[in-house]
Amino acid sequence: MIFGKNYLIWDLDDTLYNKTEEFADILDTTMAKALVEDLKLPIDFETAKKKVTESYRIYRDGGEIFYREYGVNPRDLFKAYHLRKPVEKIVPYENLIEKIEKVPAEQYIFTASDRYASEKILKHLGLYEFFKDRYYSVEDFGVYKKNESSDVYKKYCAKIGVDPTDCVFVDDSYSNLEFAKKIGMTTVRIYYRNNSAKDKTYIDYAYKGVLSFLDDIIK
Ligand SMILES: [Mg+2]
Repeated sequence: MIFGKNYLIWDLDDTLYNKTEEFADILDTTMAKALVEDLKLPIDFETAKKKVTESYRIYRDGGEIFYREYGVNPRDLFKAYHLRKPVEKIVPYENLIEKIEKVPAEQYIFTASDRYASEKILKHLGLYEFFKDRYYSVEDFGVYKKNESSDVYKKYCAKIGVDPTDCVFVDDSYSNLEFAKKIGMTTVRIYYRNNSAKDKTYIDYAYKGVLSFLDDIIK
């Protein structure tokens, strides 16, 4: 058990690996290319990239400005972006699987990447065999985000057949934790530079980087 719970549900992106500033910039480029080259948005690449970065800053979602101002269909961008996601540029943590295997809880993944990208990421991180029947994407529940309502967390728990109050949910993005908390999950936030969400009452625990969390729960 972890914090008295039997189940641990992990976010994937920026939780089970660290998004460096360099990689964040590569992802902004990737999304801008998807918008201009795949979705044929009538703006130039530089403008698109600036808006992606701005959209992340304002909405914590690189696509939001394009849904609002350009009528981009979230599903189209979701697909085009994940198809281009440069997974090979992610630097995996060493010995992550060894630590994961020691966690005293049944573990799952709930990701906002699509199934295509999440399979590639899990393979790249050396986690695919461990999680192959225990990872789900937002697209499995007909949505593209996990910070809009607690419904998707309810559906997730129903899918894996567990009571939300018996789950610990771990995510770097605190806007996701708010909805997990609403249905009774215990919440853990992984942060990198500063614990910027100290004031958020829906966060039960916060750790600097996933390795410090893992070391604490497997000790
Ligand atoms: Mg994340």
